[in-house]
Amino acid sequence: LMQIYRPLNFIGFVYRELRQGLTDIEEMFKLLDQSPEIEDKPGARPLEVTGPVIRFNDVKFNYDPDREILKGVSFEVPAGKTVAIVGPTGAGKSTISRLLYRFYDVTDGSITIDGQDLRDVSQNSLRAAIGMVPQDTVLFNDTIGYNVEYGRPGASQSEIHDAAKMAQVGDFIETLPKGYDTPVGERGLKLSGGEKQRVAIARTILKGPAILILDEATSALDTKTERDIQSALDAVSANRTTVVIAHRLSTVINADEILVLREGHIAERGRHDDLLKRDGLYAQMWNRQREATEAEERLLRTANDP
Ligand code: ADP
Repeated sequence: LMQIYRPLNFIGFVYRELRQGLTDIEEMFKLLDQSPEIEDKPGARPLEVTGPVIRFNDVKFNYDPDREILKGVSFEVPAGKTVAIVGPTGAGKSTISRLLYRFYDVTDGSITIDGQDLRDVSQNSLRAAIGMVPQDTVLFNDTIGYNVEYGRPGASQSEIHDAAKMAQVGDFIETLPKGYDTPVGERGLKLSGGEKQRVAIARTILKGPAILILDEATSALDTKTERDIQSALDAVSANRTTVVIAHRLSTVINADEILVLREGHIAERGRHDDLLKRDGLYAQMWNRQREATEAEERLLRTANDP
């Protein structure tokens, strides 16, 4: 699996470098406006969140008519729980998160939140209830404080600072000479991928959505960054109904349920220990990833300790 990941990571890396992850407001709107074909039904009602419980009922989906991407996916995320989706590249993991955010409508089957079909509720209310932490966070050419505040415009300074602290990025911001007023972007400070993701997590903590979708970065992180991001993620996903597209072992081990997606099907499901015992696809992926992590750590140790 790592052999497939590596070149893809590299392409992703070049792409991210090119974009510098920085975009102007206009660009941001273009990014957000990915679903012009989705419209509210006449009389669409606001989503009423009680649980929230997410349910995928035999969901089938294709982008193009001749190729089915999801071939009947069913699962439930109970209120406050975390479901992790793992699987090879191209299996359909991100498609699941796009359907939940309703960038597209399902081709067959249904998705409900607290019993309400996503097609029956207003998109505004749906997106207000969901916080999305993407792999590649878009930062505005503005101050870092503004970039956090974007999660809930009008939040107080102390709320912004608390969110940044919880997301493990507050201390870093405070070491900057201009602190929260530091400009980021093309004409300002460049942030690493891990720092950008923590800004996105701070934004989401400030927004306080009932539902969380996380798309973890596939790129290799050093142990400290991984630990920082994990505790930021723990803070944001605690007591929230969470769907995470997981690449890191630390996330997967703690998930309430893991879905192993392969070619648009759920091939295996269960908790980490149960899946390891099954000795199937998950066990294979996990062992390979662990070997790769251990090899990398050995390499780092020899590099640091000549
Ligand atoms: P994963 O997240 O598991 O890597 P994705 O959900 O991104 O997989 O993609 C699943 C399949 O859908 C892939 O074969 C991909 O090429 C295809 N796909 C993704 N997005 C689109 C799109 N906008 N149009 C057509 N095909 C797409």
